[in-house]
Amino acid sequence: MNKQEIMEAEARYLVRTYARSEVVFARGEGAYLYDESGRRYLDFAAGIAVMALGHSDPEWAQAVADQARLLTHVSNLFHTEPHVALARRLVENSFADRLFFCNSGSEANEAALKFARKWAKRAGSEAKNRVVAFSGGFHGRTVGALSVTAKAGYREPFAPLMPGVTFIPLNDLAAAAKAITPETCAVIVEPVQGEGGVSPATAGFLHGLRELCDQNRALLIFDEVQCGLGRTGTLWAHQGYGVQPDIMTLAKPLAGGLPIGVALVTEDVAQVMEPGDHGSTFAAGPLVCRAACVVFDRVSDPSFLAAVRAKAGHLSDRLRGLPSPHLVEVRGAGLLLGVEFNRPVKPLVAQAARRGLVVISAGENVLRLCPPLIVEQQQIDEAVDILASALSEW
Ligand SMILES: *Cc1c(COP(=O)(O)O)cnc(C)c1O
Repeated sequence: MNKQEIMEAEARYLVRTYARSEVVFARGEGAYLYDESGRRYLDFAAGIAVMALGHSDPEWAQAVADQARLLTHVSNLFHTEPHVALARRLVENSFADRLFFCNSGSEANEAALKFARKWAKRAGSEAKNRVVAFSGGFHGRTVGALSVTAKAGYREPFAPLMPGVTFIPLNDLAAAAKAITPETCAVIVEPVQGEGGVSPATAGFLHGLRELCDQNRALLIFDEVQCGLGRTGTLWAHQGYGVQPDIMTLAKPLAGGLPIGVALVTEDVAQVMEPGDHGSTFAAGPLVCRAACVVFDRVSDPSFLAAVRAKAGHLSDRLRGLPSPHLVEVRGAGLLLGVEFNRPVKPLVAQAARRGLVVISAGENVLRLCPPLIVEQQQIDEAVDILASALSEW
């Protein structure tokens, strides 16, 4: 099919849930994507902060090919080695004692909410079922995850959703102190908000949430689906804050582009779950877990993380130097950066694509940069130069 035929078929056969850019990508290598005509683009979206090792990483591709020839799926009714190998890596390198595997960020947050509900029934009363979430927060599109996602436009067409959710502003500890009560079973927060505009929580705020959760016997859930696994320059985003959660959810980058989700939990949370309480047919198959082990081993290497921090510093310095009267602020953490402008960035995203740079937005006015973590300094310079030239025509 040529480009036109592909776009027409998409419009004919798919439910219209996406407004796609007018580009058809055919392959990728490292930090570059190639469209159907062979044109090269620098990829500073990485499939929404997914492709941490870049595209077509040789070690990852070899592991996937080898495992596909060995064993792809048998279901969770049987033992296999790769999911245990991955679970050991994640547990031994985090606050957690145990974990639950699923297939996406939404599913990881569904698991976290179900765990919190059951934990609270055991810890308190039936009334202890409320959840506190934050403006700008994004936790997914399934009914439970959507119920704690702030944007009204995402939620309202599907109401009524899960009841008992209170939204309060991020970094407003006074509001949190009012909202978190003994009836709260969980507080769910992204240490660095992604979709909602690339807004980091402050350290004082996360420490305050930890204290309020402890005082009210509520679970603190960190959604690190986007900001976790090296993206901020530490293995987990919360390590930059020195605050530990009771549950952490992961997904986007973990399996190098294959679908996976994880809810990591403390023993206190894990012990309320019994066989039959939750499950998934596809979760933690040998193929996806073998792929994830490759990603985890590479990203968790201290020298890899040090390189992320160095490159992140360079990118944020260069972004701060962008010449634009419309630039409001550069913010974020590590290689998850947002550039806020005083007007919608959609035309800028399109201009950048025309000049061979793929970037995405995070809300109306914020340009989001989340390149593969293997991006090189010279590619960062190239990307910022393209942005500067796109800005000059904006
Ligand atoms: C993308 C995202 C999700 C949802 O993940 P899906 O895999 O799309 O279900 C949840 N939380 C955060 C922070 C995300 O960025």
